[in-house]
Amino acid sequence: MKVLYNGDLIEKKDARVDIEDRGYQFGDGVYEVIRVYNGTLFTLKEHTERLFNSAKEIGIYLKGTVSDMEEKLKQLVAANQLTDGGVYIQVTRGVAPRKHQYNDSLIPQITAYTFQVKKPVQEQTAGAKALLSEDLRWLRCDIKSLNLLYNVMEKQKASKAGAFEAILVRDGFVTEGTSSNVYAVIDGVIRTHPANNLILNGITRRKLLEVCAEQGCSVEETRISKEELLCAQEIFISSTTAEVVPITELEGKPVGKGVPGDITKRIQEGFQQKIKHESEASISS
Ligand SMILES: *Cc1c(COP(=O)(O)O)cnc(C)c1O
Repeated sequence: MKVLYNGDLIEKKDARVDIEDRGYQFGDGVYEVIRVYNGTLFTLKEHTERLFNSAKEIGIYLKGTVSDMEEKLKQLVAANQLTDGGVYIQVTRGVAPRKHQYNDSLIPQITAYTFQVKKPVQEQTAGAKALLSEDLRWLRCDIKSLNLLYNVMEKQKASKAGAFEAILVRDGFVTEGTSSNVYAVIDGVIRTHPANNLILNGITRRKLLEVCAEQGCSVEETRISKEELLCAQEIFISSTTAEVVPITELEGKPVGKGVPGDITKRIQEGFQQKIKHESEASISS
C-alpha cells in the first residue's frame, strides 16, 4: 500500500509524521476527501481547487499547480489499484517547535492515502435518522479545516443515539450536518443554506444543484428555519462518502410519510447518473 508523502509515493509503513507537525499539535491545516468510482477520481478538479483555496484562506501557499496535485493523486490511485473507494489528502502548515505564531518559511506537509468506502446502501434506500444540535462552530465553516472537534463531538452524540447525522442549527436556522450538507423540501421547493461562511460548500452540493437544474426541480439557496425543518415534506443530506441520504426520522419523529420522498429519490437517481457519466467519460479520455 502506497501513500503520497510530500510529492513522493512511498510505502505506508515508511511514512512518519513529525511529532512537531503543526497539523498534529494545532490542527493547523486543511484536507479533502475524494471519491473514486471505476478507478476514476470523481470531481477531482473541484476538490483539488477547494484544497488549494482552503489552504490559501489560512495563509498556506502551496508550491506547484492544481494539475500537478491532480496528477499525483491519480498516480496514488493507480499505484494502489483502487477501483472503488476514496482518497484522503491533508495539508498542514509545517513542522516547527510548538508556539502559536509561525514563521512564513515553514514547508507545508502534504500527505494522502487511499481507503475503502462502505457505501451506506441501507440508509440511502431506506432513509436514516438525524438529530438536531446547536451549531457552536467558528464563523469560517467555508474552510475545510482539520479542526473538527465540535463536528466530532456532535457526530459522536448522534451516533450513540443511533442517528446517522447531527443537523446543526445556528440562531434558529439550519446550517449543515457535521460532515454533510442539508436540504429540505418545503412547499415543493428544495431549499439549502446559501454557500457563505456558515457552511462548507460541498462538491456534492454543487453537483446536486446541477442535477436540480437539469431535472427542472425548483431549488432555492435560502435559509431553512428549525421550525420549517421540523415540518418539511422531505429532508436529505449529501457528502462525498454518503452521496445522497434521505432523512426519514428527525428528533424521533417521521419526516413526511417516514419514507424517502419522491423528490429525494429523483435527486439520488440524477446524482448516480452523473457519477456514471463522468466516471466513464474520464476513463475513455
Ligand atoms: C466535507 C464537508 C461537507 C460535504 O462536502 P463534500 O464536498 O460534498 O464532501 C459538508 N459539511 C462539512 C462540514 C464538511 O466538512
